[in-house]
Order: sequence, then C-alpha cells, then structure tokens
Amino acid sequence: VSEPNSPYFREILDGIPVYRPGRTIVSPEGRSYKLSSNESPDAPLPSVRSAIAEAALEVNRYPDNAATELTSVLAARFGVPEEHLALGAGSVGVTQQLLEAVGEPGAEVVYAWRSFEAYPLLAQLAGVTAVQVPLREETHDLEAMLGAITDQTRLVLVCNPNNPTGTAVGGTELIEFLDRVPEHVLVVLDEAYREYVDDPDVVDGLNLYRRRDNIAVLRTFSKAYGLAGLRVGFLVGPPHIAAAIRKTMIPFAVNRLAQAAAVASLNAEDELRDRVAQTVAERDRVYNALRADGWTVPTTRANFVWLRLGKATTDFAEACAATGVAIRPFPGEGARVSIGDPEANDAFLAAAKAFPQRC
Ligand code: PMP
Repeated sequence: VSEPNSPYFREILDGIPVYRPGRTIVSPEGRSYKLSSNESPDAPLPSVRSAIAEAALEVNRYPDNAATELTSVLAARFGVPEEHLALGAGSVGVTQQLLEAVGEPGAEVVYAWRSFEAYPLLAQLAGVTAVQVPLREETHDLEAMLGAITDQTRLVLVCNPNNPTGTAVGGTELIEFLDRVPEHVLVVLDEAYREYVDDPDVVDGLNLYRRRDNIAVLRTFSKAYGLAGLRVGFLVGPPHIAAAIRKTMIPFAVNRLAQAAAVASLNAEDELRDRVAQTVAERDRVYNALRADGWTVPTTRANFVWLRLGKATTDFAEACAATGVAIRPFPGEGARVSIGDPEANDAFLAAAKAFPQRC
C-alpha cells in the first residue's frame, strides 16, 4: 500500500516505508510455521507467565521509568555497574535512542549492508546520513567499514552475528577493528543473537566494551529470552554513553509487564539455556541437512540460516508459503529462515528439498 504524502511533515518521510515485520502464513490445509522473525518458538515459562500476571494487577499505574529492579538484576547477572546500563523498548528502541542521540544534520552512521532492516529506517528518521558498506562473502568487511569513516561519522553499527546472513566476525579481527576506530566515533556491537553463538572464536562484546571509551553493546530479551512480544532491550557501555541513551528514551518506554517478565527470565536462565541449546542443535541439524541436499549456506552463529537465492528468492518464499512455512524473503537477494521447533524445521526442510533449484 503506498501512502499519500502529507504536506505537514518532513519530506524525508515520503521516502521511508513502514517497517515490514515477518509474515504469518496458513496453508490451505491449515498448517502454519512462522520462521520469518527469528523469534523463540517456545511459549513463556510458567514463572515468567505468573510474573506477567502479577504485574498486570498494577497496570493502572505507570511503570518504574528507571526500571530499578531490572537494572539491578541485569547488573548482577552480567557483572557490570548499573551506570553502564540503559534500557529501551526492544533493542530496536535502544537503536533509535542511539541514533536520536547522534542525529544532527551532516552526521553519518556506518553499517554493513545487507544487515538489520531497521538501521536505514531509523537512520533516516533521525535525520542522519546512512553509509552502507557491502558485506564481503556474506560477512562484515571491517577493513572497508574503517575506510568509510569520515570526520562526520558519529556511529558505527556492527551486527554480530549479522542479520540476515548469520555470519559472525571473529575475536581477533573485531579487536583489531575496535582498536583502530577513531576516538570521535562510537562503535555499537548489536548482539541480538549473542546467546546462540557457540564458536569460542566469536568474542562476547561484554568482554570487550571496557577496552575503550567509545564501545557499547546492544542486547535484547526478544530472541533467546523469548519476550519479543513485550519489547525490552538494553545497552551496556561506559557511563557517558549509557546516560545519553537514557535521556533519549521516551518516558516509560519499557512497560510494567516487560520489566517483570525480564526480571523473571533472568531468574530462570537455566531453563532458558536449555531452550537455546535446543535451538542451536536444531540450527546445526537444519544447516547440515541443507548442505547435504546441495545448498550453499553461510556458516551461521544465530537462530536462522541464509540462502542466497538471488532471482529465485520470491519463488522459493512462495513454495514455502504453500506448505504453511513463512520465511523472510529479500527479493532478488536471498531468504532468511528462522530456526523453529523440530516440526517447523522439518516442514521447511521438506519445502526446500522439493524446490527445483539450489543456491
Ligand atoms: N538487532 C538485530 C540484529 C535484530 O535482528 C533485531 C530483531 N530482528 C533487533 C536488533 C531488534 O530486536 P528487538 O527490538 O526485538 O529487541
């Protein structure tokens, strides 16, 4: 649907699409497997559900704007001072807070492309210039990203593992990059999929951000913690960065239910770890099955796989949809397929096997 232009707003809005979330599809036989948004396939744990129900009793009151309890539990869990934390409505909310904080005419933000689709959208909204550096073999080209930095660059976003390719940059390469980024540039490591990384060579940003004063890390409760529907994300960084990100949060952005659910999830990490381990095992099974069936799949460290189908992408998405499998097509480029429960993954593998082409 193309919206009419309005004379009242900034012209740039005319060129900005509404964010398009992953679809849900139901096949003619009534089958529906949602592998289009990299969500957790599991329903919330009983302890999380009861924390939400209890918090619901007080929704006539505004939430705690400082998210005091969640901040303190997060600080203890990750071994960071509370002043190093800032929250938002999902890590996409925190990304917007970051772009708002750096956003003034002429400011540039550098990130890889293709990467998370919200980056260009939020950059345009904040009025900053997006500088997109093409991936090399599906992976961040950190050397080229360094080369794209100018005096106007304020922020570099590194999505690690990268959405939608699933690839991750190794520790040695990342550390060398971080050490070479000029001091006037803030580097943010978007680690939305960190919990699925099982390669020891991919270093945890939380072990790196203290190296310098210009590094921060983004995390979310939407993926491994299974709270996509509640919208909580956070930044970990030096106090001067966290403080700015708290200022650009809209008041009460993290609602009461979200805060309670996030605290309950941090208290149930053993159970959540088992779920993540299951997803990782399923990811490896899907990856190996695709490879055995003749597909080229970049090594993935996240809860999804990437198929560079090029022109066949739309046909592939339609073939999957016909069997009730919703995936995320990027027409002309490729398809991202989330790892779901075993039944959903089998449905996807069957659709992929039946597809006449390979990439
Ligand atoms: N970063 C990346 C790389 C993502 O893929 C996503 C979700 N698709 C997000 C951030 C945002 O997640 P949320 O806002 O739900 O925390």
